[in-house]
Order: sequence, then structure tokens, then C-alpha cells
Amino acid sequence: MDSILVVNAGSSSVKFQVFAVDGDGRLRRQFKGQMDGIGSRPRLRASGANGDAVADRAYPIEAVPDVPAAMTVASAWLRDEVRMTPMAVGHRVVHGGPDYDRPVAVDHAVVARLERFAALAPLHQPHNLAPIKSILANFPALPQVVCFDTAFHRNHPDVADVYAIPHRLHEEGVRRYGFHGLSYEYIARKLPEVAPEVAQGRVVVAHLGSGASMCALRGGRSIESTLGFTALDGLPMGTRPGQLDPGVVLYLMLAKGMTPAEVQDFLYKDCGLKGLSGVSNDMRELQTSSDPRALFAIEYFVYRVGLYAGMLAAALQGMDAFVFTAGIGENSASVRARIADRLGWLGVAVDPLANSSHALKISQAASRVPVYVVPTDEERMIAEHTLSVLLTKRSNARRERAS
Ligand code: ADP
Repeated sequence: MDSILVVNAGSSSVKFQVFAVDGDGRLRRQFKGQMDGIGSRPRLRASGANGDAVADRAYPIEAVPDVPAAMTVASAWLRDEVRMTPMAVGHRVVHGGPDYDRPVAVDHAVVARLERFAALAPLHQPHNLAPIKSILANFPALPQVVCFDTAFHRNHPDVADVYAIPHRLHEEGVRRYGFHGLSYEYIARKLPEVAPEVAQGRVVVAHLGSGASMCALRGGRSIESTLGFTALDGLPMGTRPGQLDPGVVLYLMLAKGMTPAEVQDFLYKDCGLKGLSGVSNDMRELQTSSDPRALFAIEYFVYRVGLYAGMLAAALQGMDAFVFTAGIGENSASVRARIADRLGWLGVAVDPLANSSHALKISQAASRVPVYVVPTDEERMIAEHTLSVLLTKRSNARRERAS
């Protein structure tokens, strides 16, 4: 049976999923796994379609020193033990820069263009590209497709896309891109099924995970996002600060003598919920902590989601529905309840029972704005894109041969 391998590579982990392609072109998830602790305590874990563990094994550090090595180990496991040889590999790549507004098939030229955007996503892009380069070198005939977190936002109106800086910088690519696009695209595709009455309307989606952002959808398309040039803007995240006066960065460098590399590390790794609380970057730990700084970090997060909901409602000139998704949005009833409280003025009224049972629709019948919890599935989106790029490529090749 044909299958598609989806790869999401980060700095210390490579997550993967395998989807079987059924005869009617439908995708069925078969395996989900990850190699984490790369370069420290490598460990491969995987589970089957029913969630049962099918692998859990540790490796010596020298066997998995980096992302390409992790990819090699995971591929060997899939090939030798699961007996799976994918028809194509789909990758998540954080930054498509100004060039890419849709997924594309990988070749050396695409990789070279994507490497140019590494400075815009320094902690993600090089790791996203590492397995692509390693597959290109070792299995050049295996089709690969790259799917971008920025692509879904590429049709923003200019007023949403531009910074108030001289235009030549915009031309160079210094613009507001927005991220988590694969998640928002999945939600936009799912809404006609779960909430047909609002799917074509003005919807604010809150993707609240370790990385967090919000997106304004009109007619299923993104028109505004809280993230911008890099994945640092907007909401506070696990370890990133969210919106910050650029003067703070100048202060860190000029008054505190921090180097650009130190500031970069600081902004990506030491701020957000972790920096605010001094306890953890993980919402679950903050919720069980009695440290007042942990409570404050949650209050700050909730307050900021409320502020940005107002901003996105202004961009949409109203709000017909609100959607929660990702780790915090899908699982934390208490954070959802507190955010919903702040959205009362916009017409939101949550039903406490529906909310605590994580129902699909958590608003009261009388709520002017319905509120939904829709689990996201970025990997399925990548698998769907990969299959569709592959099928288009094949039919183009057939047409060319016939002409
Ligand atoms: P990412 O994919 O960006 O790593 P996730 O979407 O998995 O992030 O979200 C991770 C966040 O979700 C963490 O802050 C985690 O604490 C939070 N989270 C997961 N489950 C719960 C829960 N039951 N209650 C509160 N927060 C949760």
C-alpha cells in the first residue's frame, strides 16, 4: 500500500507520522513517532493507529548526534521493522519567505532558496531543512514536498503585510508573514464540517500551544495574524515574549552590552511564560504551581489573548465565531474559560459544562458568538498537500509525455 511520511524536524527532535493512501485517495494515519533527545539522550518512540506503543528505545549519544542522524535511524526503523517505503515525504518548513504561497516539490534550487530564509527563523529553518538535504543526498529519486507555515497568510492585504519602515525593506522581504499557517488551514477546511453556519463568516482562531498565535479568517482565508516577520511577535509563548517594543532590543544591546547572538537566544529561549514565571514554559506546570509569578504568567497570557481578539475583530469588522486549538486551547478548560470571560463584550458566553467536558461547541445557546474547540492536525494537512503536489506532478508529466 502507498504511504506518505510526514516529517517535522526541530532542534532536538524529529517528529514523524505515516499516512496510508487508500484506493480512493483518502489518508489513514498508521504511525506516529518521534526521535527526541538528539545530541543528548536520543530516544525513539512510536505508536500505531490505535495509540499502542510500537517502539520505545534509547540510543547512545554518538549514534544520534544530529538531525540527519535521527532521520537515518527513524527511516531505518520504518524500512526494516515496519516494512514501509514511502511514495513521498512531506516536510514542515517554518519560513517560505516572500517566494512561496503554496507547497512545492523539493529540488536543489528550492533548498537553496529556503536556506536564504534561515536568518528569519534561526531556531527552526536550519533544522527543518536538515532532513530534506539528507534525503536529497541519499535518496534523490524519493519525491519530497515542503509545506510552509507562512503560505496560508501570503494573501494578506498590504496594510496587514507591511511595516511602517521604508518600502525597500519590504521589497527585501522584511514584512509580516504570520505563522502556524498549516494549523489555520486545517481549521479553515474543517469548519464547514463542524460549524457550517459560520465557516464562511468572520472567525478568530486562537492556536495556543508552546508557540502561540491568533488568526483572523474571512471566508476561510487568513486576512490578519498576530505573528509577523519572525515567530517572536504577538502572544507570549512558552519561551518567546510576544509583542515587544523594539526599543527593548536596543536597550539590551546598547545599555546591557548583549551581542546580537545573545539577544537572539534570550528572545527565543528565556522569555514568555518561562521568563515571566521563573517556573516553567509549560502551561500544565504553571497551572499546578502556587508560585504567584506562575499565576501572573497565566493572567498575562489570558489578558494578551483578549487584547489580540479585539485587534482581530477590528480587522474583520466583527466576529461571527471564535475557535480554540493546539495544546492549551484544546486541553485547558480553565484557560479557555478565563479567555472567554474577557471576550464577553464581543458577545461570547461559554457554557461551563460544555467547556469542562471539552465539547466541540462550548458556548451557550444564547451566546451571540459561538465558540468551538477544534483539535488541529498539521501533519494531516502536510500529508494532503504532499499527495496533491505529487499527483499534480504525475499528471503534468503524463500530459507532457502525451503531447
Ligand atoms: P507545540 O506543538 O507548539 O509544541 P502544543 O500544541 O503541543 O505545542 O502545546 C503545548 C502546550 O500545551 C504546553 O504549554 C502544555 O502545557 C499545554 N497543554 C497540553 N495539555 C494541557 C492541559 N491538559 N492543560 C493545560 N495545558 C496543556
